[in-house]
Amino acid sequence: MAVFPPLREDLGVMAGYHSPQLDVEVRLNTNESPLPPPRAFLAELAEAVASIPLHRYPDRQAWDLRVDLAHRHGVQPEQVFVANGSNEVLQSLLLAYGGPGRTAAVFEPTYAMHATTARMTGTAVAVGERAADFTIDLAEVQRVFEEARPSVTFVCSPNNPTGTAERKDVVETLIARAPGLVIVDEAYGQFASWSALDLVGDEVPVVVTRTYSKTWSMAGARLGYLIGPSKVVSALWEKAALPYHLDSLKQVAGRLALHYVEDMEARVALLVAERERIQAALSALPVDTWPSEANFVLFRPRSRAGRDVWQGLVECSVLVRDCSSWPRLEGCLRVTVGTPEENGRFLSALKEAL
Ligand code: PMP
Repeated sequence: MAVFPPLREDLGVMAGYHSPQLDVEVRLNTNESPLPPPRAFLAELAEAVASIPLHRYPDRQAWDLRVDLAHRHGVQPEQVFVANGSNEVLQSLLLAYGGPGRTAAVFEPTYAMHATTARMTGTAVAVGERAADFTIDLAEVQRVFEEARPSVTFVCSPNNPTGTAERKDVVETLIARAPGLVIVDEAYGQFASWSALDLVGDEVPVVVTRTYSKTWSMAGARLGYLIGPSKVVSALWEKAALPYHLDSLKQVAGRLALHYVEDMEARVALLVAERERIQAALSALPVDTWPSEANFVLFRPRSRAGRDVWQGLVECSVLVRDCSSWPRLEGCLRVTVGTPEENGRFLSALKEAL
């Protein structure tokens, strides 16, 4: 009889990261863009796809895409690494700088995939706690650095799922004190008032990760990147990425999207205005909220259990993320900013559910 090997034991204990999808009219649970990409982009892409030499492997170094991204951010192409979603960028970083015998530091509550991907790559996880307002506390950072000497430290700003952004001076101090590489995850960076991209340099042990999934309306395409020191980027290409890991279609799509910066900036402005509208409306309801610099808002109903409010919203065909059983987020729900109409549906359903 065939014998299957037992699963790695350290994988068995991981809860995984899944957002349940229900068939609802208003889906505000996974922080995507509520709008499809611009029509002109889709037309340009369809035309470009027709001339891709699909019988050949893609450019292994994704050079043209890196040149364009470098141009956009005012850095060198040697400082840009690209992969299949920023999750794969994070995994590549952990493969290269984490691994057995090494530790990654996270400050909870934060994006669950940081710790999960660390464990998947055999990296130990040192957990620090955020302050009561969910910002990073430098005394706690110091404790974690001294006790765990992490090779990799994650800073998620704006932070998922709380929406809170770190202050620049806090991130600068953290980088100056870090015993290893600092990864600033800016999946929601375009919605925030400042970016750590300005802190990147070839002699600074910091990388900033970004994604096409949110503002670029391309979550389905799976494309993310990082800006960081050239030696980190070349280590990722040479030691951590699979050969030809980024397909030709995506390399072309990523370049063409950059022709639509103005459209994307208009979407960001719309979503930021809508976020402010949601926050103002929530402040008049019996819920606690936290200041958000992302495309979502965390809130905690005061009058009813979070899970019951989540269920009440589902009954009105509105799906938000239920964080109510996550550590330190008891009773909390997270709503992604949608179109003005979707946000209106959410707010009236919420009033009913409360
Ligand atoms: N980082 C953070 C903080 C996120 O919230 C997400 C998406 N949920 C990602 C990274 C991954 O994004 P993607 O792989 O789609 O680029």
